[in-house]
Amino acid sequence: MSKFIFVTGGVVSSLGKGIAVASIGRMLKSRGMSVSVLKLDPYLNVDPGTMSPYQHGEVFVTVDGSETDLDLGHYERFIDVELTELSNVTAGQIYSEVIANERAGQYLGGTIQTVPHVTNLIKERVLKLAEVSQADVVVVEVGGTVGDIEGQPFIEAIRQVRNTVGQQDTFYVHVTLLPYLGATGELKTKPTQHSVNTLRGMGVQPDAILCRADQETGEDERRKIALYCDVNAEAVISLPTLSSVYEVPLHLEAEGLGSILTNGLDLPDTKPDLESWRAIVRVDEEEHEQIDIALVGKYVELQDSYLSVVEALHHAGLHNDRKVNIQWVAAEDIEEHGAEKLLGSARGIIVPGGFGERGLEGMIAAANYARHSNIPYLGLCLGMQIMVVEYARNELGIADATSLEIDPEAANPVIAFMEGQEELHSTGGTMRLGVYPCFLKEGTKVRAAYEQETVDERHRHRYEFNNEYRVPLEEAGLIASGTSPDGSLVEVTEVYGHPFMVGSQFHPEFGSRPERPHPLFREFIRVAKTTLREGGQHDFFEEE
Ligand code: GLN
Repeated sequence: MSKFIFVTGGVVSSLGKGIAVASIGRMLKSRGMSVSVLKLDPYLNVDPGTMSPYQHGEVFVTVDGSETDLDLGHYERFIDVELTELSNVTAGQIYSEVIANERAGQYLGGTIQTVPHVTNLIKERVLKLAEVSQADVVVVEVGGTVGDIEGQPFIEAIRQVRNTVGQQDTFYVHVTLLPYLGATGELKTKPTQHSVNTLRGMGVQPDAILCRADQETGEDERRKIALYCDVNAEAVISLPTLSSVYEVPLHLEAEGLGSILTNGLDLPDTKPDLESWRAIVRVDEEEHEQIDIALVGKYVELQDSYLSVVEALHHAGLHNDRKVNIQWVAAEDIEEHGAEKLLGSARGIIVPGGFGERGLEGMIAAANYARHSNIPYLGLCLGMQIMVVEYARNELGIADATSLEIDPEAANPVIAFMEGQEELHSTGGTMRLGVYPCFLKEGTKVRAAYEQETVDERHRHRYEFNNEYRVPLEEAGLIASGTSPDGSLVEVTEVYGHPFMVGSQFHPEFGSRPERPHPLFREFIRVAKTTLREGGQHDFFEEE
């Protein structure tokens, strides 16, 4: 039987609750326990797949192909687990199910209400993850802030879980903000008192409180919070802004949260083994030479839109003794100012995933620049499609080569709809999603990077490489270095003779871990750091 830790947020959003949950998971795992995680999202979308990245940041894709909240990326990276669709539940899913049940006559003439029908389904999903994962501990994050109208059924459901599974098996953590007033030099506890009052008004008494602020929360403030919120003084924990999110598990461990959780849940308080994590943090804190990598995208104003890419670059940097400095380049700006001006100082160029037509010509110009200047290039999903269009236009001489996503009437769609996709009219959950195997051709850069013949990677796309152009493109030097095992779908392309110009139809970024960078990112950074720009843009040589 699993134990449950529920994490709520108070005062403001974007407190780093997801990082706190991921860190708790890591701390428990480091004690030899198995951990699973669930994010409850109170919004009415069925999943974040239909939301603009500007609204919600990156859409994280799980191995089984569900489109989920970006916090699942934190959980996977920190805890080193692979989660599934069971780990992200939205109000949209719950209400759709309740209404479908009602239409199917399953409630036998009853009046359908938030309590118990909606709350029961939420509870079922919490218990189902425990049952399927068989984890020792299930950590549940409630999205949003306590007091939000749409969050209420979720708080009520987690309250009821204590009643269902018992006091010993449930633990409530509240993550809250302490605002700092510069004039008096104080951290204020009042908003936290109010948010805990709201939570207690809904029947949930926190067992621990994590105090977020840019600085340490002092003894006095912690004592005050303990007194007014009825929490043990040692369970009111300071969580200041640290130099890296990877420090959070170590910090919370040092503050005693690990033992507080295990004692509270009546679990053995074994000694945590955080050595490999500590090693990563140590490397992260060392001085590293900086390497500038340009990220050419459409949503660069909101960097969370590329969260897993940023993390994967960070991991790859750590393992290459480099600190990756991302130059955020809006693809549209390249259309206006030219590639040389915006990419002239980058040692590597990355074109990540994206949707829609805006900025695509700028990305194509970036790929062209990378190719002619021998700058390492990594294309992720859309970034691979861009690479194919660029090559067809400039090496095959098909001036109007394009993607159907740019021009649905294109005469030369080198990137076309995947089979079945053009007939789909609904947008939610209809892409090619989740893990598919990919065969890597011998003697190619990808094969050397992975050192494996077949790999499993996560997908999220509607368009693909059009096989009608495969032979001429390969003959012209754009190699299909990775394909579906039956050879029918091109999954990886690379430019023959270029130091590193690789595009993958899948999203390698989701599989990267701090301790285990993804091979494609690791190689990309390795080649970027050893390929020096000397003088003019065409002069490159390999470092010893
Ligand atoms: N828009 C492209 C497609 O649907 C690429 C998707 C992506 O980059 N995730 O195929």
